[in-house]
Amino acid sequence: MEENNVSPVVDPSATEDVTITYVLHSCFVAETERAVIVFDYWKDAPDGRLHALLEQTQKQVYFVHSHYHPDHFNPDVLTWNVGAYHQPILLLGADIVRRYRVESPRVALSMRAGDSYEDAELRLLAFRSTDVGVSVGVTLRGTGTTLFHAGDLNNWYFAAGDSRLKVLPDEMEGLFMSVLREIMATYPRIDHLMFPVDTRLGDNMLRGLAQFVHHVECRHVYPMHYWEGYEAMCSNVVMLKDMFPKTTFHLPEAALCVALPDEARNDNTSAQ
Ligand SMILES: [Zn+2]
Repeated sequence: MEENNVSPVVDPSATEDVTITYVLHSCFVAETERAVIVFDYWKDAPDGRLHALLEQTQKQVYFVHSHYHPDHFNPDVLTWNVGAYHQPILLLGADIVRRYRVESPRVALSMRAGDSYEDAELRLLAFRSTDVGVSVGVTLRGTGTTLFHAGDLNNWYFAAGDSRLKVLPDEMEGLFMSVLREIMATYPRIDHLMFPVDTRLGDNMLRGLAQFVHHVECRHVYPMHYWEGYEAMCSNVVMLKDMFPKTTFHLPEAALCVALPDEARNDNTSAQ
């Protein structure tokens, strides 16, 4: 996998002002000089890398959660007092706040599409999803580096007749493209994109990601949400390097995959 612009993320990807580390499935951690931003923590990596980092950091910790699905949210974050002042900043999808009845002083932002949050370290914008909750863009103060975590935003283009199809493929594509147009209007370029490459989509597993990178110039892409389909995900992602020579596609270590829960295997109610 060491060809051209495909680099395996055995070591974290360090760029000028942020280090992105895969945790597991949809969970990533982005570390800057003064902040640790955790996206969609639901479960740590087998080596416990997230706990190891959070238990020793003196930086401000942010927990950013796109939605309540169990592979995107762990209620432990509601009482996990880590980082500077032992007070993480919680930026949670409104569906999480509602389900877990999180009290308002505890949560810095209950995110719906169009909502924003800003402080001395970052500016966050919530966008729509094509499934539950939101997708999230983060701009780092000072450098303007942009991160985007898609949550379950994807072109869920299941073939006609597939039991997991929630709307017709063309409708799904129209919905995805309308969300993508909103993202493009805000971010003509994204430095670090975390985006689902779900192997349940079969031949269409790259469709949403390719459309995204086609419309928004992305410097680094981190495929996620591939369940146990690690090899299929890798061999497909490698094909993207020819289509998008300016983009570096990062692959996680082989150990970082999880079994698809039985209920999600033929699920027609939720992408999970
Ligand atoms: Zn998901």
